[in-house]
Amino acid sequence: MAKTIRVIGGGVAGLSAAIRLAHKGYAVSLYEQNRTLGGKMNRLTMQGYQFDTGPSLVTMPFVIEELFDSVGEKITDYMSFVPVNPICRYFFPDQTVFDAWADRKKMIAELERSFPNEVDNFKRFMAYSARIYKNTANVFLFSPIHEWLRLVNLKNLLLLMRIYQIDPFRTVHQAVSRFFDHPFLIQLFDRYATYNGSDPYRAPATLNTIPHVEYALKSFYVRGGIYALTEALVKLAQRVGVSIYTNTRVEKILQKQKRVSAIRIDGENVDADAVVCNSDVVVTYNDLLSGLTRQTCKLNQLEPSLSGLCFFWGVNKSFPQCKQHNIIFSDDYAREFHQIFQLKQPPDDPTIYIAVTCKKDPQHAPSGSENWFVLLNMPYLTSNDPWDLTVTRMREQVLTKLKKAGIDAEAHIECEKVMTPLDIRDTFSSNCGSIYGLSSNSMTAAFSRPANRNRDLKGLYFAGGSVHPGGGVPLCMLSGKMAAELVSRYEK
Ligand SMILES: Cc1cc2nc3c(=O)[nH]c(=O)nc-3n(C[C@H](O)[C@H](O)[C@H](O)COP(=O)(O)OP(=O)(O)OC[C@H]3O[C@@H](n4cnc5c(N)ncnc54)[C@H](O)[C@@H]3O)c2cc1C
Repeated sequence: MAKTIRVIGGGVAGLSAAIRLAHKGYAVSLYEQNRTLGGKMNRLTMQGYQFDTGPSLVTMPFVIEELFDSVGEKITDYMSFVPVNPICRYFFPDQTVFDAWADRKKMIAELERSFPNEVDNFKRFMAYSARIYKNTANVFLFSPIHEWLRLVNLKNLLLLMRIYQIDPFRTVHQAVSRFFDHPFLIQLFDRYATYNGSDPYRAPATLNTIPHVEYALKSFYVRGGIYALTEALVKLAQRVGVSIYTNTRVEKILQKQKRVSAIRIDGENVDADAVVCNSDVVVTYNDLLSGLTRQTCKLNQLEPSLSGLCFFWGVNKSFPQCKQHNIIFSDDYAREFHQIFQLKQPPDDPTIYIAVTCKKDPQHAPSGSENWFVLLNMPYLTSNDPWDLTVTRMREQVLTKLKKAGIDAEAHIECEKVMTPLDIRDTFSSNCGSIYGLSSNSMTAAFSRPANRNRDLKGLYFAGGSVHPGGGVPLCMLSGKMAAELVSRYEK
């Protein structure tokens, strides 16, 4: 008889793991506490406007394609990627506007126009970024690193020795500053540390591989909205036979003789041969598991990633000066991250990110209007204090800053919803409201990130942004793949 695998959480990683396991012949049930699937990759509609509530840019589409291939389906029957070009329009404090292109020729032309002395620096930086990818991807992204770290053999020693080539001893900012002279370009390339919720002034320069992923491997939007990826995954899960239960919270994971034995739902025990947790790893150890005190204490010491404050604005005017993705930078990036990560307070001059999907999918807003998803970096939560006053203050700051950048939207906001760090925490059971799980603010972060399998409690596996290899859609999908591979290795 097929072994029974229970998946806790219907985020992108949980769905990915469930699909692979069902295809391998396991009896898979997936439980999601919310009404809708997709976790942070969700959708909001209001008054004729439609918004993606989480991810707005997808990188490494080959990871998603491989999932469909692996179960014998054609991704084009489910969804389509749309290249994003320019990737992002940047607004700097002195009114400089700069478009970053994935297309190399266009990017160089743009640099020649705005920062002519930086063209060669950019080429050298991108070669360096590609080199880090080449040296890290197989070890840190595509394999369950904790499994092979146990096995000290010649091949692994050689891999560890190559660590020097991936620049782990400087910070992102230190390395970027060695390549570029202009503070605006330093700020632009420092920003990539936030792609996994980290601080550019503390995260290891290894994260400088992200520009290679975004520019050379290209960046995409999903036709219809990023939520169309959630819909495609749900359809695929149903097709391969995953039993899906929404509005169903898992209360406990039970164990017998050092092995997972059941999960508890509504006070009832439901047998399990193995459990894949897509729930945040820190919350899972604290709330769903018992008796793993040493591991729980260790996890509680790891630093969560950035949180975020989101405004969803229905704006009854078109702003041709904005692209699909826009960044309006703060005047002092170091101060912004000091306030966020050291003082753990909302920055007084936030960098503003605005995504406008109706630029690609006009049906996402009424004619002549735009759907603005506005995201500000925020500290992870250290208290339960209400956010009302901060929301009011940040809203004013954002609108004033936009006006200064020539984007006067205040009088045109006809409907609004807000998502605070408290909402992120409470809706997705995310540790301290973090967006990407754990931060990579230390040299050893890649190694201290929790593993996809618990070696003390048999039958317990993890998939999601809070475990290896980390946050963001493609990495979460890879963690789903790793968890599924480990289940098939150990739960025969
Ligand atoms: C505002 C924002 C912007 C982002 N932008 C990008 C971007 O541009 N590009 C990118 O790649 N990534 C982006 N991300 C990050 C990306 O969304 C996440 O890394 C990814 O979606 C996380 O997926 P996951 O499967 O790990 O977890 P989640 O999406 O958090 O899913 C976990 C699920 O488990 C459920 N759950 C938890 N506990 C239980 C329980 N006890 N019982 C039942 N269900 C439970 C939760 O309700 C949730 O649905 C963004 C995130 C946010 C919030």
